[in-house]
Amino acid sequence: MAWASSFDAFFKNFKRESKIISEYDITLIMTYIEENKLQKAVSVIEKVLRDIEDAPLNIAVTGETGTGKSTFINALRGVGHEEKDAAPTGAIETTMKRTPYPHPKLPNVTIWDLPGIGSTTFTPQNYLTEMKFGEYDFFIIISATRFKENDAQLAKAIAQMGMNFYFVRTKIDSDLDNEQKFKPKSFNKEKLLKKIKDYCSNHLQESLYSEPLVFLVSNVDISKYDFPKLETKLLQDLPAHKRHVFSLSLQSLTEATINCKRDSLKQKVFLEAVKAGVLATIPLGGMISDILENLDETFNLYRSYFGLDDASLENVAKDLNMSVDDFKVHLRFPHLFSEHNDESLEDKLFKYIKHISSVTGGPVAAVTYYRMAYYLQNLFLDTAANDAIALLNSKALFEKKVGPYISKPPEYWEA
Ligand code: GDP
Repeated sequence: MAWASSFDAFFKNFKRESKIISEYDITLIMTYIEENKLQKAVSVIEKVLRDIEDAPLNIAVTGETGTGKSTFINALRGVGHEEKDAAPTGAIETTMKRTPYPHPKLPNVTIWDLPGIGSTTFTPQNYLTEMKFGEYDFFIIISATRFKENDAQLAKAIAQMGMNFYFVRTKIDSDLDNEQKFKPKSFNKEKLLKKIKDYCSNHLQESLYSEPLVFLVSNVDISKYDFPKLETKLLQDLPAHKRHVFSLSLQSLTEATINCKRDSLKQKVFLEAVKAGVLATIPLGGMISDILENLDETFNLYRSYFGLDDASLENVAKDLNMSVDDFKVHLRFPHLFSEHNDESLEDKLFKYIKHISSVTGGPVAAVTYYRMAYYLQNLFLDTAANDAIALLNSKALFEKKVGPYISKPPEYWEA
């Protein structure tokens, strides 16, 4: 059983924050494979995959009006403030109820907008009961400028319930701008960031026993300051089976996030391939188009996960006052299905397999039917993830107006 020896080794490649299967399940599957109890191994894999697919994720975001809560929620969901499903920004809170905002691409992910505790008459305990605290995976407390005692009391109550909370201080960009404007001589970015973080931590610590987690964020640009750290911390703290859906729900705004999505999807594709491989009796044959039932659909799904779907590309182009075609020139995916350089998708796939084998030292021969499907999905995945990184880099350069970033084509695409 070729998969058995590589099963454990495969998952060792991934960092804790992107691992979508628990150590316990990995060991259990390995043991069954080694004991040749394949049906049992498949059952565990099926259960793991089902848990990953079905995992609901409910994120509670609370904070007083004006702190940037709605803007933060839209940023988390990847929804522009002017889009029709956006959480309304700049509005005065009038409701004492929570409002659900579903993720536009992932129906299992819901971000709940909770009224700031200060705008209600509840005690922290009553507030949590009223807001159905047991339904969330974690709480994010949003605050801006001055620290509110209410927030500390709420944090304490959440911790007492044994739940995780993360304290997010928004509008960091404004703090930096103001300081630079008014104290240009003594301005020191790192010092100011530390001062704000200490200010929040010290206030929180007065009510809590443990070191609070404080993240400094600008909703104007969530690829900066502590937002990426917040993403990583949330991924680490979530149970393994929920990491997949959370990483997919994140916007592809940093290379680290893109790679985290890639890692997460690779593990899922691997688990599916092991399951199929153990069960496989189908010999290799037929056209590539038969290998994956919905070739286009699978690929379009990956494009969408990495922010390369038509709607997302149009948004990027609009932001930068360019046309989508200006971007597509620098991306590989539009050529994947075309006869690029007279290469068919089959040719590209075999080059890719050869490339992977040269990296991992595995044999190219004996590429069986289910392995072909596995490699094809990996080719799709790598193409989409590499394009997302290329888009990120070219966006950064376009913003600086120094011309486009031309991504180097992956080796396996060279003629
Ligand atoms: P909410 O009332 O807490 O939901 O706050 P909103 O999201 O409506 O934001 C209130 C105002 O602050 C709006 O004008 C936002 O554009 C602005 N805002 C929100 N977050 C930030 C941020 O991180 N930086 C800056 N500069 N402005 C922000």
